[in-house]
Order: sequence, then structure tokens, then C-alpha cells
Amino acid sequence: MRSVYLDCQATTPVDPRVLEAMLPYFAERFGNAASRGHRFGWEAEKAVDRARRQVAELAGADPREIVFTSGATESNNLALKGAAEAYRNRGDHLIAVTTEHHAVVDPVRHLERMGWRLTMLQPGPDGLLDLDRLAAAIEPATVVVSVMHANNEIGVVQPIAAIGALCRQRGVLFHSDAAQSFGKIPFDVDAAAVDLASVTAHKIFGPKGVGALYVRRRVELAAQMDGGGHEAGMRSGTLNVPGIVGFGAACAIAREEMAEEARRVTRLRDRLLARLTAALEGVAVNGSLESRLPGNLNVRFAGIESSALVTALPDVAVSTGSACSSAIPEPSHVLLAIGLSPTEARSSIRFGLGRFHSEEDIDFAAGRVIEEVTRLRTRRPAGSPMG
Ligand SMILES: *Cc1c(COP(=O)(O)O)cnc(C)c1O
Repeated sequence: MRSVYLDCQATTPVDPRVLEAMLPYFAERFGNAASRGHRFGWEAEKAVDRARRQVAELAGADPREIVFTSGATESNNLALKGAAEAYRNRGDHLIAVTTEHHAVVDPVRHLERMGWRLTMLQPGPDGLLDLDRLAAAIEPATVVVSVMHANNEIGVVQPIAAIGALCRQRGVLFHSDAAQSFGKIPFDVDAAAVDLASVTAHKIFGPKGVGALYVRRRVELAAQMDGGGHEAGMRSGTLNVPGIVGFGAACAIAREEMAEEARRVTRLRDRLLARLTAALEGVAVNGSLESRLPGNLNVRFAGIESSALVTALPDVAVSTGSACSSAIPEPSHVLLAIGLSPTEARSSIRFGLGRFHSEEDIDFAAGRVIEEVTRLRTRRPAGSPMG
């Protein structure tokens, strides 16, 4: 059976070029990058140094500002809890957005339980955060503002340069979860004026279980993992050398190919949407289409239960919400936050396109979705609402 993977916001396959770069570091060059006394350690350290430069270059950062972690979840935890602990003397207030990934929402909720005051800002119906709202929410006691760059469900890209400039002007730290944007659209730590930024390899055709936190020079963090003092003491633990090498390779490829790839993936995304809207009534895009990642399309189909649609489409891998929460039958917190009703949220599907998709893949997927939506709608019991 032909099947198409269209869930690139959940994860991506490892690019064969990335895999090739990683392979020698499993068995042949297996050294511990912290072993200073022999060739095995130096070889690993050299590979990590190169990867650190590759990650830094893609973000416009200095390699010394890159802390390797196990992924964006850990980076978000380290950034938020680490900054809260290090700067407790500055205040007791945090700001985040209701459409953030759970890997930001849960750490800030944790800090709230530890006594921090938390303001969760509501974005507009297009998913975009209003700058005036943010400006009004910043208090003298605000320590950190956390606003993601691109949303993992609706792909909406926040105006982080303006947000960063505002935070800098008001003297508060700015953290951004850039897991979805890094490597797909330009993300530059100075242009965005971020102090902290979370990125991960597996969303950009690198391996799972490796990521990084960008930490601006002179920004302090309390380590959340104590031990051998790796990564300038901010994150102890023997480095995942093959993973880090793969992350570096993925960043180098993204840097070369991002502009061309973004154009191509945007064309495919627009083709998918055009096919769906030409063939079906009651198709609506969730969130801003203009300020959006190239490879994201989140749409709702009136009268359709998205879980039924996903079940009817074993040959098209899509998501009904964020992958982390789709086991729970709750409607997506992101879709509710941008003003959808629970019924509308439950009729939404996320398509995630990427590097390896062809026009044939998109046409096949569109055809199958159209077929199944039509079938489900005709099966719908008479008189039930098209909600
Ligand atoms: C995938 C993702 C994460 C989690 O990253 P992991 O590397 O899987 O821990 C966090 N934030 C966003 C926006 C994501 O898309």
C-alpha cells in the first residue's frame, strides 16, 4: 500500500547525508568528548566543536553560546527554570503565551506552583501575539518573557524581532522556543534579540534526542542537571557525540538549502490547500496563512470528526493536534486559544510537509483526504449539524 508521511511538525526522517556523517561516531570514533588524555577523546571533541560551529552559524550565534541538550523539551526546561532560579532576586513574574508547546506551558506552570506569578497571554484569532498586549503585561517584577517563534500545530510565525526589541527595551529576558522555525525559516539570535532560544535536531532532518539551548553571553542559568560540569556547567552529562554530529550536519544542510526548500515546500503546501478547497465545501485554514511556516497546513473540515478522518486514512500520516496530546481526546489547547469551538477544534487536521515530498505525494494525499471527507460526510446521520 502506498503511504505518505505528512507529519513533519511531529518529527522528520533523518536526511541520508546526516546519517552518513553520524555513522563513524558510533563505533569507530566512539571517544568521550570530555576525555582530555588521548586521541579518542580529542577526535570526539573535535567533532563536537565542528557541530557547535554549525549549529551556531545557522542561528547567527557564537559557538560558546550553544549548550547541547537532549532536545527542545530539555532546552525549554533549562531556559525557564534555570533563568527563574538564577534571577529570582530580580522579580517574581513570568510571561508566556497560551499557544505555547507543552514543553513551555508545563515548566511555567511548574514555576507558578513554586511561587512565581504567571501571565499567559492570549493571541488573536490569527494566532499572532499583539505587541501592545505584551507591552502592557510587562511589569517591573517580570523576569522572563517566553514566546515561541513558530507554532507546532498551526505553524504561525510570531513577530519575534519586535517582541525581542520590546523585551530588551524593558530590561526583561526573552526566551523563544524556536524548535519549529530553526532551519526552516531565517532565525537569527541578534535580529530576534533573544537571550535564550531552544532548538532541536529531529524537526530538521536530524536525529531524535539531541538539541541545543542558545544562551546569550553573560546570561546566567542555574543548571538543572548537575554532575561533571559539561557544557560550561550548564548541562552535565557525557555528550551524545553521534547525535551532536548529526545535528551539526543537519544545520549545515539547512543553511545551504533553506531558501530554496522553503519556496518549494510553500508551493506544495499551497497546492495541497488549493486541491482541498477546490474539491470540498467547508474547508477553513486555522491561523494566519501569511505568517506561517512553509510546511504547515492546519485546516478544519466542517462536519468531520478529525479522529474518524485519521482512522479512515491509514495511508496518509497526519495529526489531529500536537503529537504529544493526540492520545488524549481533548481538543487542542492551541486551537481553542485562537477562538475555535471544541467542535471546530475536533474537526481539524495538521499536515506537515518537508524536504522529501514530491507533487505526486501531495496529489495522492489530497485525493485520499477528499475521498474520505466526502465519504464521511455522506455517511453522516441526516439532520446532524455541519458544525
Ligand atoms: C517538537 C517541539 C518541542 C519538543 O522538542 P523535543 O526535541 O522533541 O523535546 C518543543 N517545542 C516545539 C515548538 C516543538 O515543535
